[in-house]
Amino acid sequence: MGSAVLSNREEKSLLVIGGGIAGVTAALEAAEAGASVILIERSPFLGGRAIALHLYFPKLCPPECGFEINFRRLKNNPRITVLTQAELESLRGKPGDFQATVRIDPRYVNDRCTLCGDCLQVCPAERADDFNFGLTRTKAIHPPQPMAFPAAFVVDRAACPEGCTACVAACRYGAIDLGQAAERRTFPVAAVIAATGWEPYDASRLVHLGYGKLPNVVTNVMLERMAATEGPTAGKIVRPSDGNAPKTVAFVQCAGSRDENHLPYCSSVCCLASLKHTTYIHALYPEAEVTIFYIDIRTPGLLEDFRTKVATNNHLKLVKGRVGKIEEDPETHNLLVTVEDALAGKKLTEAFDLVVLATGIVPRSGGLPAEFPRDEFGFLTNGTPGFYAAGCAKRPEEVAATVRDATGAALKALQYAMRSARHE
Ligand SMILES: Cc1cc2nc3c(=O)[nH]c(=O)nc-3n(C[C@H](O)[C@H](O)[C@H](O)COP(=O)(O)OP(=O)(O)OC[C@H]3O[C@@H](n4cnc5c(N)ncnc54)[C@H](O)[C@@H]3O)c2cc1C
Ligand code: SF4
Ligand code: SF4
Repeated sequence: MGSAVLSNREEKSLLVIGGGIAGVTAALEAAEAGASVILIERSPFLGGRAIALHLYFPKLCPPECGFEINFRRLKNNPRITVLTQAELESLRGKPGDFQATVRIDPRYVNDRCTLCGDCLQVCPAERADDFNFGLTRTKAIHPPQPMAFPAAFVVDRAACPEGCTACVAACRYGAIDLGQAAERRTFPVAAVIAATGWEPYDASRLVHLGYGKLPNVVTNVMLERMAATEGPTAGKIVRPSDGNAPKTVAFVQCAGSRDENHLPYCSSVCCLASLKHTTYIHALYPEAEVTIFYIDIRTPGLLEDFRTKVATNNHLKLVKGRVGKIEEDPETHNLLVTVEDALAGKKLTEAFDLVVLATGIVPRSGGLPAEFPRDEFGFLTNGTPGFYAAGCAKRPEEVAATVRDATGAALKALQYAMRSARHE
């Protein structure tokens, strides 16, 4: 399963790098229009960051629904070759006629894995759970995330004690091969779509907000995992310091974004994400008092209705002002938030049980060929024939916009591939 190959056609294909919602969409749209597609994903599962969300704004539906349909479309489409734990190692040739060499790292578990979990019982080693932002730990052998596609466990060999083979003996299906090695495969491809997505801004760089030092300061992506039923707290949003339900919660908007010292641009989705997060909190604790500290609440276009609906809650207060500092009572780990209230024109200090930083979106474009143009912030741009970008690697955007963008990128890549084939 290290290679997780669904099919392989040796004709010239499109290469899609990144298996989040943008990459999955681009691959499906191109393949359903008749192209052969190689979809490579660095992690052991498809879905990217969207699959780690509890619910999607504005409809508040779970991401699993859309992904289940997409995974079925992938499985049923022989034109798509899916490779997980795979990265582009080199791209030789010229647009229209590339040779793409892909390195596929070992999963150590093959497709005989039934997800029975017997190996978990015997595995002695643990590691921080990266899917849950370190909020919990997993065994060295583990399911990469609750609804992983491909559906097979994976081994983090760096976490295994030397000489241990306990899981191999425990697996009744012969699904574990600790001797697996990385493999390389080369594909002829006509054009490349980069859908490498985003990562959250490193909140520990916002020293005045205390993340990493004050346990009850968490980030928006952590809150998504806490709210998820199959997440590290089984769907309970709690204070990390004592596991108690928070009665008062503050959201700090633009945590890093729109700040010359951090991310000079607007991350576009974090206002909507925080409004959505207040609905998670009120669904669990209807009486909790929630405050959003904002510079501007940005909910463009049709998404304005979502803001209007959420803001009617009497237990939600919107305060315009940039948070200057967060301090903690060391006994209780309660937090004191100091903010300049821009409308009242005065400094406020308020106490909260939990603070959520609405950290921004940083483009992830490492490991891509240099031909992909980038703007001054590192977001990919289009402009070089044969190289197309899609999704949050290109700009911060919500899932619906990402899907539209990826469909456009698939069309552009397809047109280029067809044109270059005609001129061969
Ligand atoms: C806190 C928060 C909440 C949000 N909530 C919502 C919401 O409710 N509704 C909504 O519509 N949107 C929401 N969003 C936005 C949503 O997360 C994005 O629109 C979506 O993740 C974009 O998908 P993507 O495929 O572009 O990127 P990603 O999800 O980041 O996927 C990129 C994929 O590429 C892979 N990859 C990266 N580099 C390489 C490489 N070199 N080789 C191979 N693979 C690689 C990654 O492993 C990853 O799987 C939210 C965002 C935030 C910050
Ligand atoms: S690797 Fe083997 S023991 Fe572990 S979950 Fe898969 S089938 Fe079960
Ligand atoms: S070899 Fe298997 S059982 Fe031993 S630590 Fe690694 S994953 Fe766990």
